[in-house]
Amino acid sequence: MNRLINRIYYRIKPLIPRETQIQWRRLAIAMQKQKFREVWPILESAKQAPSFWKGWPEGKKFAVILTHDVEHQGGHDKCRQLLELHRKHGFVSLFNFVPERYTVDPQMRKFITDNGFEVGVHGLNHDGRLFSSHHLFRARSKKINRYLREWGAVGFRAPAMHHNLKWIHELDIEYDLSTFDTDPFEPQSDGVGTIFPFPVSGKTPQETYVEMPYTLSQDFTTFILMQEKSTDLWRKKARWIIENGGMILLNTHPDYMFFGDGEQGSEEFDVSLYEDFLLFLKENYAGQYWNPLPREAARYVRGMAESPPDASPGINTMLLPFIVNLREILSFIPQEILIGAA
Ligand SMILES: [Zn+2]
Repeated sequence: MNRLINRIYYRIKPLIPRETQIQWRRLAIAMQKQKFREVWPILESAKQAPSFWKGWPEGKKFAVILTHDVEHQGGHDKCRQLLELHRKHGFVSLFNFVPERYTVDPQMRKFITDNGFEVGVHGLNHDGRLFSSHHLFRARSKKINRYLREWGAVGFRAPAMHHNLKWIHELDIEYDLSTFDTDPFEPQSDGVGTIFPFPVSGKTPQETYVEMPYTLSQDFTTFILMQEKSTDLWRKKARWIIENGGMILLNTHPDYMFFGDGEQGSEEFDVSLYEDFLLFLKENYAGQYWNPLPREAARYVRGMAESPPDASPGINTMLLPFIVNLREILSFIPQEILIGAA
């Protein structure tokens, strides 16, 4: 049903003036906010660490993973400024580009990776149809895999957070970012219900990838649709994630950030809000967080999930194969629940 509504929405969307679309979405969110207060922004059960979890590297308390989806040419052209902002405060991040929607300058990709940041792939052409049929997904995944290879990228995020974790196995990736812990305002609103990354096992080890859900509301939802004037919403959720040793994974868009050039657009927020959140982390939690590139986080998580469980003294090692099997079975359950909706 959801898929049908999405399909209809994307078909008629070009006919509706953008300003009207925004007004509708503002109204819908304002009405839904109360209804979802038990599950958003905090879903209490999402704090439970997965069974394989052994903690973040070097005893860090939590992780900060910063990602950006670059929607249009205008966003592409603001990437240098956004990268510099991170460098100024000692953070690294990921820039996801849409290969066939605007010109992705190879020099821009080089600038990003030369500076120790990461480049990823965001859909193919961002028309909302990527998951409309398995046939179409398969055809497009071949092209996406070509861009992944060409760009030296190992990560993917689908446009509009559409996802089918089973089909995503067909992409040659180490991690996927197309989900969230809880976000009932997304068009495909089935969250994965965890603030921790987790592996999604395929038929072969090559097919296995790590899923990393975003855990703070997206910038557009927060500042444009909900019209928040501060980072209080992010801070509140971040404190809860930190308390539970989870992952702060944020998805922001250079397109919607106003860097002070010309006049501020109606769909832009002042970049000082984003900077304010980086400062909140830096000033209050210095030394307590791990801020890896997503590819580093994915490799760490995969290694942790695949290493045998700690054999504490007293456990009969004859039982270990059984324990490993049981863990595999248990880790398989959430996946099935997830793909059930697709
Ligand atoms: Zn997008």
